[in-house]
Amino acid sequence: MNEQTNHYEIAIVGSGPAGFTAAIYAVRGGASTVLFGGVAPGGQLLQTMEIENYPGFVDPVVGADLMMRMLKQAARLGTRVLQESVSEADFSASPFKLKAGGRDYTADVVILATGAQARWLGMPSEEKFKGKGVSGCATCDGFFFRGREVCVVGGGDSAAEDALFLTKFATKVYLVHRRDKLRASFRLQEKLKANPKIELIYDHVPEEFIGEGKLTAVNLKNVKTGAVRRLEVPGAFIAIGHTPATELVKGKLALDESGYVLANDKTETSVPGVFAAGDVMDTRYKQAVVAAGAGCKAALEALEFLE
Ligand SMILES: Cc1cc2nc3c(=O)[nH]c(=O)nc-3n(C[C@H](O)[C@H](O)[C@H](O)COP(=O)(O)OP(=O)(O)OC[C@H]3O[C@@H](n4cnc5c(N)ncnc54)[C@H](O)[C@@H]3O)c2cc1C
Repeated sequence: MNEQTNHYEIAIVGSGPAGFTAAIYAVRGGASTVLFGGVAPGGQLLQTMEIENYPGFVDPVVGADLMMRMLKQAARLGTRVLQESVSEADFSASPFKLKAGGRDYTADVVILATGAQARWLGMPSEEKFKGKGVSGCATCDGFFFRGREVCVVGGGDSAAEDALFLTKFATKVYLVHRRDKLRASFRLQEKLKANPKIELIYDHVPEEFIGEGKLTAVNLKNVKTGAVRRLEVPGAFIAIGHTPATELVKGKLALDESGYVLANDKTETSVPGVFAAGDVMDTRYKQAVVAAGAGCKAALEALEFLE
């Protein structure tokens, strides 16, 4: 790094599994590396208490612990980890320009790993039971509801896929949708209808999540009649989509219609020298280990680009 210009060979924006893995590979590949982690580095896993599907942990690991380990590993190897958000990015010429914490930085390569945010309904009772029965991730938490009844809220492809996935564990899955028909693809709708474990509940929205410490029931309101129906379920999966964190790069990188960064198998974006990894470019898997894998790829590609 050049102290006067704050120039780095590789600048990583984002501090989830993708960002930290990219940092680990970048510094071990010999590149001067800075990682902008935002005000609370760690990403989405900070929101979860129990991770059971990240390899290497025999017992469940707390999200914040896992992320702190990644941060320390990246820092020990030589990454400069800054607790700052990148507020501006200019990819129009090399070296690329970034602004963070009121300071200017330049980098030969940028790895964008800003992640995504699961969308929530925004109800106080939903907030109260997050991680205590209310979940934003069926792949992550479905396993905990083996032999129980659960509901899924949503009507698109992800809600349909979540409902079908959850039938592997749950005895019954209620799919609750606010309209009178689903947005999910025809193929998925056929699968839902053919699955005896799934009950479709149209024209209903959650009115309240109920429980003592942990979720035990969800009150649904019929949007047409106002009638209330109670589902006695210990698990409720909110599947109303994700918002990728791409505000910073709008108009600077090619994005898909939902705002995700368009990146190829090699994590290359529309701008040579800018790579994207993790949930910010992943419309399908949204898992920590996949994000970490993409971060590894991005760093290896970045190192090759520098050569
Ligand atoms: C409640 C919950 C539970 C989950 N449980 C599991 C699980 O059990 N197992 C599993 O594999 N996956 C789980 N996931 C999914 C997993 O968290 C994500 O797939 C993974 O965190 C994605 O990693 P990422 O590095 O792409 O981005 P993120 O984790 O989203 O991290 C991106 C980070 O970049 C920061 N950032 C954004 N913009 C900027 C900027 N301009 N400047 C600086 N920093 C910025 C963000 O603030 C954030 O900290 C869960 C997700 C949630 C929400």
